[in-house]
Amino acid sequence: MVVDSVITGEGEAVSQNHADVIIVGAGHNGLTAGSYLAKAGLSVLVVEATDKVGGMTSTNPVIAAAPDHRINEGAMDASLIRNTKIIEELELATKFGLREVALDPIYAALGADGASLCIYKDAERTADEIRQFSSSDARAFLELANAMDAVARIVIPYMNTNPVRPLAGGSLTGVLKAALRPKRLGPLARYLAASHAEAIDEHFTHPLVKAPLAALPCFVPMSEDGTGWALMFFGLHHHSGVARFVGGTGAITDALGRCFAAAGGKVRFDAVVDEVLVTGGRATGIRLEGGEELRARAVITTNNVKVALTDMLPDGALPEAMAERVKYIPTDSTNGASFKVDVALSGRLQLTQHQAQRTDDVDLRVPGLVYGTFEDHVNAWAACARGEMPDPLAGVAVIPTAADPTQAPDGQDTFWFWTGIAPAHPHVPWEDQAEATADRAIAHASKFIDGFDTLTIARQVMTPPKFEERFRSPDGNVYHVDPTATRFGPLRPTAGLAGYKTPIEGLFISGGGTHPSAGICGVPGQLAAKVVLKSLKGAADAPGPASGAVSTNAGDNGHVSTADRARAFAASRR
Ligand SMILES: Cc1cc2nc3c(=O)[nH]c(=O)nc-3n(C[C@H](O)[C@H](O)[C@H](O)COP(=O)(O)OP(=O)(O)OC[C@H]3O[C@@H](n4cnc5c(N)ncnc54)[C@H](O)[C@@H]3O)c2cc1C
Repeated sequence: MVVDSVITGEGEAVSQNHADVIIVGAGHNGLTAGSYLAKAGLSVLVVEATDKVGGMTSTNPVIAAAPDHRINEGAMDASLIRNTKIIEELELATKFGLREVALDPIYAALGADGASLCIYKDAERTADEIRQFSSSDARAFLELANAMDAVARIVIPYMNTNPVRPLAGGSLTGVLKAALRPKRLGPLARYLAASHAEAIDEHFTHPLVKAPLAALPCFVPMSEDGTGWALMFFGLHHHSGVARFVGGTGAITDALGRCFAAAGGKVRFDAVVDEVLVTGGRATGIRLEGGEELRARAVITTNNVKVALTDMLPDGALPEAMAERVKYIPTDSTNGASFKVDVALSGRLQLTQHQAQRTDDVDLRVPGLVYGTFEDHVNAWAACARGEMPDPLAGVAVIPTAADPTQAPDGQDTFWFWTGIAPAHPHVPWEDQAEATADRAIAHASKFIDGFDTLTIARQVMTPPKFEERFRSPDGNVYHVDPTATRFGPLRPTAGLAGYKTPIEGLFISGGGTHPSAGICGVPGQLAAKVVLKSLKGAADAPGPASGAVSTNAGDNGHVSTADRARAFAASRR
């Protein structure tokens, strides 16, 4: 058996060739699963392809010309995890240094004429703001919020519950409560059956109201029937609010990494898992690129689930019908993919015109900014379907340093623009149009935000192929699996695989492609850990070494690489 060194949270390296549980991927779901399992007394090894924890919740100085500007490589706003108990249960804030800034207003829609409309956590407050533009839209917004509140009361317990055992999580109570208030259900049925675009167009009139309703839940082609469910986004936000983490989104995986290490978990970096080892219908470990094998009683994959169940399994490991089914797990069915521009700036961006028109003390630099119109969003989805680049791109812009100045030198900004409505496979290859597309994105932003022309130090442009390379997610899919209505609950990622178990004993799936969804959520990791614990109950009841330390062969094997020591967990998070 091959033995190699393992980096620990303390920067200590020990030799190890097996663990109770091996987890593929040190994104937030891998580290969440690892933390629950290690705290339960199991030996846990997380194997990560890159040299850092974080995955799509990474904050790093990736712009070479601006090494002190820390860039949020993937996610920005945290909401789903605020509907869970993970931060509390893992003591991420109280013991492991996680700090957050709650946003209120959460978003601001910017009009071409200098007007702005803020979306608050509280629906009534948002309605008050909308009333300045249209009283009928304010009424419609409250009706939407009321309908989506009923959905949120069902969805939140369900999202915290194993999707194949929903009665255990209190979702039924939500259904009964909703059923007892039938007045809410009428409008709800209309919203859910309609297309996202139709639901907005039918109920709302003012452009500044319609724009954020189109922009914020921008997951699915908005003119297709049955996509109105996306508006549920607002129901969830009214429950949980939205926060950003101090230090950037990477702060959550830093805190999880500290929690995991404190419980005895280990992370091995620069280790690409090539294959899950399957012997006699049972997962027995993993093989790394290069051929090294590591053994475990259970393996959890948190990398892209389609990759895990196709490329990483030996032929014939899955039953034939399931092997066919997993090939159809969709990663580019919506024709929409992610394009992102990050900019490092030598001073502060301003929203001069819009700020001047506000009569309250809202600082428009802080919320997420929407300046694409409703029509821009409808047209962008249509352009993606044709394989063409939307013009303008429709997305969300954030000045991360406005809410948290620690992410850049004093008085300087970073800028984050992301759209999920860019073609995954455009007719003109991405490498031939990435820079020009970024130029247009910044030119569009400059109509609303001042300072790009004089303050820009350098920028990073991320296209779907670059996201695919950076995060090993097919088509650069930031949701791991397309977030279409038919891929949620018992159908995520596909029928028969929703409860984290696979037909291969000892192999479990997790990550953004599993229930409840992608996003900064943690529940896929938390619930997968519960299923694994149950399955390894004997081991959990009778852990090996005290305090849950990872079983190692250090005494027998002794090899500790100096280079690996130097790349220790703590140092790698600088
Ligand atoms: C540009 C962008 C913007 C986003 N915006 C938001 C937002 O504002 N709010 C929000 O909630 N969510 C947002 N998301 C989505 C969110 O970040 C992800 O859904 C979530 O972080 C996924 O977490 P995960 O742990 O499941 O997977 P990942 O973060 O993808 O982690 C998987 C890990 O597995 C590793 N890995 C992959 N293959 C292998 C292998 N073969 N061997 C070893 N390791 C491997 C990867 O390197 C990675 O570290 C955004 C994502 C992106 C990219």
